[in-house]
Amino acid sequence: MTGVLKKCCYVSVALDVPLTRLFEYRCIEASLPKIGARVIVPFGPRRLAGVVLGVASETQFDSSKIRPVVALPNDMPPLPEDVLALGRFCAEYYGHPLGQVLATALPVALRQPKVFVPPEPSGVYQATDLNALLQSLSARATAQKQLALMLAQPMARAELAAASPSASKWLKNWMEAGWVAFTETLPDVIPLPAGAAEANAEQAAAIAAIDGSHAAFAAFLLFGITGSGKTEVYLQTIAACLARGQQALVLVPEINLTPQLEARFRARFPTARIVALHSGLSDKERVLNWLSASRGEAHIVLGTRLAVFTPMPRLGMIVVDEEHDASFKQQEGLRYSARDAAVYRAHQRQVPIVLGSATPALETWHNARSGRYRLITLQHRAVGGAMPPIIEIIPMHRAKVVEGLHQATLNIMRDHLAAGQQVLVFINRRGYAPVLSCGECGWLGECKRCSAKLVLHLKERRLRCHHCGDEQMIPTACPDCGNQDIRPLGQGTQRIEAALETLFPDAKILRIDRDNTRRKGSLQEMLRQVSAGEANLLVGTQMMAKGHDFPALNLVVVLNADAGLFSVDFRGEERMYAQLLQVAGRAGRAGTQGRVLIQTGYHDHPFYGQLLAQDYAAFADAQLDERRSMQLPPFAAYALLRAEAEEGALAKAFLQQLQALLADAAGVQMFDPIAATMQRKAGMERWQLLVMSDTRHPLVNALKRIAPMLEVRNNKVRCILDVDPIEM
Ligand code: ADP
Ligand code: ZN
Ligand code: ZN
Repeated sequence: MTGVLKKCCYVSVALDVPLTRLFEYRCIEASLPKIGARVIVPFGPRRLAGVVLGVASETQFDSSKIRPVVALPNDMPPLPEDVLALGRFCAEYYGHPLGQVLATALPVALRQPKVFVPPEPSGVYQATDLNALLQSLSARATAQKQLALMLAQPMARAELAAASPSASKWLKNWMEAGWVAFTETLPDVIPLPAGAAEANAEQAAAIAAIDGSHAAFAAFLLFGITGSGKTEVYLQTIAACLARGQQALVLVPEINLTPQLEARFRARFPTARIVALHSGLSDKERVLNWLSASRGEAHIVLGTRLAVFTPMPRLGMIVVDEEHDASFKQQEGLRYSARDAAVYRAHQRQVPIVLGSATPALETWHNARSGRYRLITLQHRAVGGAMPPIIEIIPMHRAKVVEGLHQATLNIMRDHLAAGQQVLVFINRRGYAPVLSCGECGWLGECKRCSAKLVLHLKERRLRCHHCGDEQMIPTACPDCGNQDIRPLGQGTQRIEAALETLFPDAKILRIDRDNTRRKGSLQEMLRQVSAGEANLLVGTQMMAKGHDFPALNLVVVLNADAGLFSVDFRGEERMYAQLLQVAGRAGRAGTQGRVLIQTGYHDHPFYGQLLAQDYAAFADAQLDERRSMQLPPFAAYALLRAEAEEGALAKAFLQQLQALLADAAGVQMFDPIAATMQRKAGMERWQLLVMSDTRHPLVNALKRIAPMLEVRNNKVRCILDVDPIEM
């Protein structure tokens, strides 16, 4: 026999480079990769990992110049069609190179140009006799006990190893003793679990509606206040989904993915494999969890926005909890909305999606009102007798005020503390004071690199910029006039904490904000202290507004609420309403009726009337009327081109060039470029160009024209495209 020439094939590959085009490589027919497979290819002098998007036996290029694929790692299932489709959608809609979109979809370990070797065969450990195992442990073996408790659910070795370095030794012993078993694969079908609350009538209707459309796309808005039983609806519809042998994807805001929530899911589904995907995991944990989902092993993926791209071969439903939350919109790189991407994906896969919120985004509310989404309302709190909190306004004008706290506020706080209840003082400003000022000449401490004031951090003895991170020593005298009496203006969490220490010397005060929760686990420890009643007077920022359940907390005091009323952003009031209602929801969850005090300098503002009514539907309808009459989103499609340069004139000129390119695009309107609200940030001058159209299509089409301009590397000006911006 004569030697057979190995037949060549060509693959087009999406690479993680800022270019829209694909790249061709050659490989032999015998080892042809699948569409969606990961390949390692040469790129100039480097190697890169990419995703195969096309395979052909011919090429239109000069075949002698096409370089061969370096390796086919075969270390993950090829990306399935629905993830590729979502990638193409995001690339087109957000004007971002497809290779970079797909890189975003992959965990970091699978973006590297080397083969990923999983540490062991997949499979899980689970206790077969948890009681016997626990009884065998001495009281002081806390680490072993913690590991044993994890084994109440199926757990991968990597997860257990992350919890304890001695995990493999103990697992071996426990398996020998017959208390723990290893299973290579779990069944796809998880029978309906016990432990579900009996659904009330509203919940039952919601569950029936969602289950009823399990074999087709349908988008539901599950609208209900905190405590109305939305999570219970998710759990019961997911149970039905798992019982059909399907997987469920649950997206939550980063800050809500608490151990409490995860524990609630694990407690409900003790035999299911639940994996988390969020930025708090190590790269290794993330890739293992991702692989577990994409191999179809994990039944439930509980993740933050990045999890929307997770391949799930048996995906049966998607939940987006707190769908209005701003963290679903990525604010760098691929500026996608994970909520919108999730809706696209559900449509692609023909599965139902449930968007849950007490304060839906107006975009979502509009979709529900116009019938594109099905509106399901939970009117009442799920636990019998629990009532929504009473909201009261404390007008601040001509008031007796101590350190930003009204005398009436202080009196009510004192009563609650005396009655043994917890009180939360909510102020969305960390640091000691938002600015340092000179009473003589009016000097204000400002960041040299940003158009922003420097925040006083007294404990660290620093002035710190919250936008670029710059720090300075606290000056001992005014830099302009030499006056030594320079003073902090306004209040931040640290100053309120200090004031409360004087005002309530007997209270156990705990401050919770980003400054004192940076260390891993410190937030969890503080939340534990709150739950255990080791603190009764809490000072917190928006970190405290979300997700956590504190049964003894029944008074919330909101300081400095007014900021959203005069925002340049048309979403100011929408955000403020959502935030205030959310923080109000912290008050009085168990049995007692909560009370919320809002200190304001503008008690006559119609906004507060709408807030006191606690009728988000009415508020949202009124806002939509306003948006409609002013042609604002969701009644118009917006894209922002944001340019920055050391010299503002360059940024502006660049945007003017783009404006000229778009001038005759059909159906598109523009204003002239304007300076950004925060004109200087980290030493760069920032300008923006707003591009609008009545519907999305003309806008997306027009923006394609300028993509080449954004691709060209321009050293002086950095310009990015933000489609559906949520911050103006
Ligand atoms: P949400 O997600 O809307 O804040 P949850 O689902 O967390 O509401 O429900 C609030 C509380 O009420 C939880 O403690 C939950 O266990 C309980 N709960 C929910 N539904 C029911 C029900 N049908 N019967 C009894 N308790 C319920
Ligand atoms: Zn001065
Ligand atoms: Zn700064």
